Amino acid sequence: MHDAVIVGGGPAGCFTGRFLAGRGFDVVIVEEHAEIGNPVSCAGIVGLGGLKELGIKPGKWVLNRLRGALLHPPSREPITLTRGRVEAVVIDRAAFDKELACSAADAGATFLMKTRCADVTLGERTSVKIKKIEGAGRLETRLVIGADGPTSLVASKAGLLKETSYTRCAQVEVGAEIDEDRVEVYLGNSFAPGFFAWLVPAGGVCRAGLGVSAGVPKLFDFLNKHPVASKKVRMSQLLHLAAGLIPRPLTRKIYGERVMLVGDAAGHVKPLTGGGVYLGLACARLAAEVAARALETEVNAKILGGYERAVAKRFGAEFELGLRARRLLERLSDNELDDLLRLLATPELQPLVLGEADFDHHAQLLKSLIKKGPNLIRSLGLKRLGRYLRHLLP
Ligand SMILES: Cc1cc2nc3c(=O)[nH]c(=O)nc-3n(C[C@H](O)[C@H](O)[C@H](O)COP(=O)(O)OP(=O)(O)OC[C@H]3O[C@@H](n4cnc5c(N)ncnc54)[C@H](O)[C@@H]3O)c2cc1C
Repeated sequence: MHDAVIVGGGPAGCFTGRFLAGRGFDVVIVEEHAEIGNPVSCAGIVGLGGLKELGIKPGKWVLNRLRGALLHPPSREPITLTRGRVEAVVIDRAAFDKELACSAADAGATFLMKTRCADVTLGERTSVKIKKIEGAGRLETRLVIGADGPTSLVASKAGLLKETSYTRCAQVEVGAEIDEDRVEVYLGNSFAPGFFAWLVPAGGVCRAGLGVSAGVPKLFDFLNKHPVASKKVRMSQLLHLAAGLIPRPLTRKIYGERVMLVGDAAGHVKPLTGGGVYLGLACARLAAEVAARALETEVNAKILGGYERAVAKRFGAEFELGLRARRLLERLSDNELDDLLRLLATPELQPLVLGEADFDHHAQLLKSLIKKGPNLIRSLGLKRLGRYLRHLLP
């Protein structure tokens, strides 16, 4: 009988596995692919502050350093947001994942590669049903940890999914003429309803992607037709194409009897940008601490519930406020998006934005913008301001 079977060898699974194995528990990580880190579907932007907080030193997987962002409103001039210092890095996700996997293995975790979790049984004899090329089997365990990404089988088998709501994304790696030290973000309902498109300089290549809240991401239309982006990318140099889903936070319960979810499986991503590497690992660490406590005593829902409380205490405001801001952005017309982004660049708001923006934590800036709301009556008009605040306030 294992102490913990972790389904999924992505960053969240490996980070959790390293912590638990390092505490002396018998940990098995089950990964359906033949290689950790592949296939990749990620733009690879990670905040430097977040990495530091997680105790991860930037390694050879850093491809590029970012000092800011260039925001393209639907039909106005672009806005530059920068404090002049490096705030985030663009990473080689496959190499990053492999480094996390190696540290989990060094700590004593066992990896079962090319092994798919096909079912989960929870109860007195908790087990994970696995399928390998050469046959099937069951791994008996005291605790199952679902780290199996946005469409988590563990979450659905354990009855933890409350709703399925995803941002659908597509991304390519292409040649492009863009500044190496900033990410470009494009907003507009005609090509990225409810989300945005991006051009990320990734050290010699550009990751160009697009997400939508509903429907299908029409990335090639955007890259071929957008008046600005189409002039920057070189579609003849197309190197890699990927599709992926980003889950919404608070759409699933993150623990049950003898089961926990981490990373995308738990919906632990930043609601506004979909970034899940930092947030997934920060919450995975909270999960691992609670799991260790349970494995040292008794594994039950009462003790595992400490995980949900710890996440709510540390990141509850990030999820709640971020989701409200996301819902507001999803409802804005292109004209309203233009006006809102223009406001962020005014002398009235830009110092606040640059002073309080944090790559990994958005709640503080959102709270300050809400507080500043009444001062914006003149620029926005009472009706529009009321509409914005109605979405942002509880
Ligand atoms: C297009 C796109 C761009 C993104 N850009 C960024 C970004 O710039 N910055 C950022 O922070 N985040 C970004 N994200 C989000 C980020 O990629 C995820 O948050 C992150 O990968 C989550 O890690 P994870 O370990 O939870 O899940 P995953 O990385 O999805 O890993 C899950 C693992 O579980 C395995 N698995 C799944 N099911 C089973 C099964 N049944 N049996 C065995 N194994 C299984 C999979 O093979 C996979 O290896 C992006 C996402 C997308 C789609």
